[in-house]
Amino acid sequence: MHEEFFDGRLIVKSGDLTDETVDAIVNAANSTLLGGGGVDGAIHRRGGPAILKECRDIRATRYPDGLPTGEAVITTGGNLPARHVIHTVGPIYGMNAGRDAELLEACYRNSVKLAVENDLSTIAFPSISTGAYGYPKHEAAPIVFRAVADLLSDHSIELRLVFFSESDASSFVQHCA
Ligand code: ADP
Repeated sequence: MHEEFFDGRLIVKSGDLTDETVDAIVNAANSTLLGGGGVDGAIHRRGGPAILKECRDIRATRYPDGLPTGEAVITTGGNLPARHVIHTVGPIYGMNAGRDAELLEACYRNSVKLAVENDLSTIAFPSISTGAYGYPKHEAAPIVFRAVADLLSDHSIELRLVFFSESDASSFVQHCA
């Protein structure tokens, strides 16, 4: 599946995020920044050790206690087709005293902010928090769509939302409005 919105500046598609040839792909990381399962595991496997090395340096120098939920940092893309990886930590659903939506939105906003600061203009996102972190997909969809619409109106960027399965992508489109 491949659907376009906002004059083609937003693409919603199914596929493997690590295949995307963009300025940056976003990693649904955990606060350790030291790798994990799901999309995080796939990015480190395919991107190679250069990404993990930069993550370790960021931990040691800037975030000794881990990257807080909703924040983002940038590394090389290593061996990935994408030039950079932006690592952000999604909210663990139901563990944030009612701030889940706000924190999910912050992941998208802070990732784009960091991309723009680094002169990057095409950014591909996974469906942050909707795997191991348990965010219901139908609930995340309108939050993400609104966040992305605002970001596209504020910045001259192109965004892709990449869902692992065809059914996740079509369910997003169904629930996003
Ligand atoms: P989180 O811990 O933030 O929930 P996960 O990686 O567990 O992150 O899941 C986030 C979403 O990423 C899930 O919807 C999952 O289906 C999807 N996903 C997992 N691997 C990939 C991949 N290689 N490309 C795109 N999406 C992926």
